[in-house]
Amino acid sequence: MADPVFHRPLRHGPPRLCRLCRRPLAEDAEDICDNVNCRTRHKIEVTAAIARKRDRKEAELRAISHRRTRRVLRDAASKIGVPHLGRIAHGLAPYIDLPQVPLPDARRAAFEAHLRSIVESSFAKADGVSTHPEPPEDDADYATRLKQETKEPAVLNAACIACQGDCCLLGGDRHAFLTEGTISCQRWKDPEVTPEALVQAYLSRIPATSTAGSCVYHGPQGCTLDRPLRADICNSFQCRFRRELAEAVDRRPGTGALVAGLSRNHVTDPSAGAPYLRVVSISPENEVTIHDDLELPALRKGMSED
Ligand code: SF4
Ligand code: SF4
Ligand SMILES: [Zn+2]
Repeated sequence: MADPVFHRPLRHGPPRLCRLCRRPLAEDAEDICDNVNCRTRHKIEVTAAIARKRDRKEAELRAISHRRTRRVLRDAASKIGVPHLGRIAHGLAPYIDLPQVPLPDARRAAFEAHLRSIVESSFAKADGVSTHPEPPEDDADYATRLKQETKEPAVLNAACIACQGDCCLLGGDRHAFLTEGTISCQRWKDPEVTPEALVQAYLSRIPATSTAGSCVYHGPQGCTLDRPLRADICNSFQCRFRRELAEAVDRRPGTGALVAGLSRNHVTDPSAGAPYLRVVSISPENEVTIHDDLELPALRKGMSED
């Protein structure tokens, strides 16, 4: 007897179509066909959905952080004689809590080796080590850099002092982001400078202690490297919190600044006094106050809703 032949059950109704191009779909396809354009569009949709979800979570966390710090900001304002928050530029910042430690010998040696190598390669690029490169006055990047080196309003440092240098952690294994380009820039500014003078200028700015594992210049009061000596990125980068504080300062010029630095993971500890807070104010006369006596309030249910 012949083997029985099995037929696929016949599908009833119209054929299923690709959600994106409306071509008929293969039997086992979900809702996208194999066409490369449809696959690419689908990938873009998935990535965008992930980004939207991340942004929503981020916005939620920020809203909770604002609510949890509102009272401490008010208390800090009243301690420095500001009657209410409308009278002072204020904001949030990240907060990292890492100890200050002397720079380990191995890290100092690695940094010095990097420094000497970029100084050497910058000088080697000139027409002989004694000739400095011509200042690139018509170079737009150089002009931008000079602009970014200028001093910023000191009150903006309230964010970085409260934060204690979250972004500078990245400079730890990147040798303060210093490159041959940074060194050439110093030589354009001072054509007579010698290689050893440059090396010593950078070495002499290393603080006695720096934040564990962070940039060698990440001292107890922030960066110890003068702005003109820093890598481009260290002058141009401002995290969103510092930018927001700058906007707040623009809206309320001359009022000083008040910032609550708060760890991202503060929500993991809802108790009052959880150690994730550092509040800092800077008066219009640039007097810095660290409000160590202020405690993070408990994370109440209402703070994590809506
Ligand atoms: S720029 Fe932002 S992340 Fe960097 S130290 Fe300042 S507040 Fe912190
Ligand atoms: S050089 Fe200064 S600003 Fe740049 S990463 Fe180091 S500590 Fe931060
Ligand atoms: Zn398709």
